[in-house]
Amino acid sequence: MYNVLVIDDSQLLRSNLVRILSDTGLLHQVYEAQDGEEGLRYLRTQKIDLVLTDLAMPKANGFVFLESKEKDPKIRNIPVIIITGSVEIETKVLGFESGAVDYITKPFEPAELIGRVKAQLKIKSLQDELREANQRLEILSTIDELTQVYNRRHFIALFDKELKRAQRYLLPLCCIMGDIDYFKKVNDQYGHIAGDQVLVSITQTLKSTLREVDILGRYGGEEMIFLLPETDLKQGLEVAERIRQSVEATSVPIRPDKEVKITLSLGVAAFPNAEIKGIDDFIRRADEALYRAKEKGRNRVES
Ligand code: GH3
Ligand code: MG
Ligand code: MG
Repeated sequence: MYNVLVIDDSQLLRSNLVRILSDTGLLHQVYEAQDGEEGLRYLRTQKIDLVLTDLAMPKANGFVFLESKEKDPKIRNIPVIIITGSVEIETKVLGFESGAVDYITKPFEPAELIGRVKAQLKIKSLQDELREANQRLEILSTIDELTQVYNRRHFIALFDKELKRAQRYLLPLCCIMGDIDYFKKVNDQYGHIAGDQVLVSITQTLKSTLREVDILGRYGGEEMIFLLPETDLKQGLEVAERIRQSVEATSVPIRPDKEVKITLSLGVAAFPNAEIKGIDDFIRRADEALYRAKEKGRNRVES
């Protein structure tokens, strides 16, 4: 079911259009506006699939309406059919150039109007489906399915942008690599599904310790990676320690009668640093620090 907006300064014409459209049984709701200004208000506040608009109206006319709509990315995709008494070819061309998708001249045959409305609604719904499918794909391609944080590929892309920004404006940037201690034991003792549950739950804990601007990604199996913009080594070490403590304090219920506790080892690296020229150097330094944390006994932070 669709919602259509009719914009016309003539009450009589509006009622006529509403009646014709309502009789199709296709529509959920027909909104009425008496000028372009009121029409824009409806477009911005209601879910509307198609607009039928007059051109000559006292307040904001049809062209003004189309122009404002085209400038607003949130409503730009809603199709508009012009209904007007003007048969001038120049007016028609201008209408299409202003973003209209179709043009009907008054007086019109109801059957033709319905046919054109149906055709536009069909196109609109196909485009909506395509947009939604693309959005789903985009999410799938950037987010790790299990933990719902960025996957490695997308994290690296964001890292690249942040590092370039830091290099350009000489801002500090901190990268933390974290790896769950003895995670293999969790899998061996409680099974892979419980292991997955622990990963999901720990990711929640990690998220809650970060700021809005911090970026969290899953680097590999049980390896998580953090990027902290505008954060130097000293602050980064503090954040890593806070993360370590919050993981240590978390118990993950894996069965009604069973909770597991895990710990995290963390390695911190920070820019600016003479040895960091690119992302690879940056990650390698964080990874080396992580390795030292493991060597020195785990559940600790190294830089
Ligand atoms: P260490 O303290 O040295 O890090 O020990 P560890 O056992 O955590 O390290 P290791 O790298 O030897 O093993 C990692 C384990 O993590 C092995 C693998 O089965 C498990 N793992 C990796 N990804 C997943 C996952 O998505 N789900 C589950 N359940 N386990 C995973
Ligand atoms: Mg591990
Ligand atoms: Mg590992």
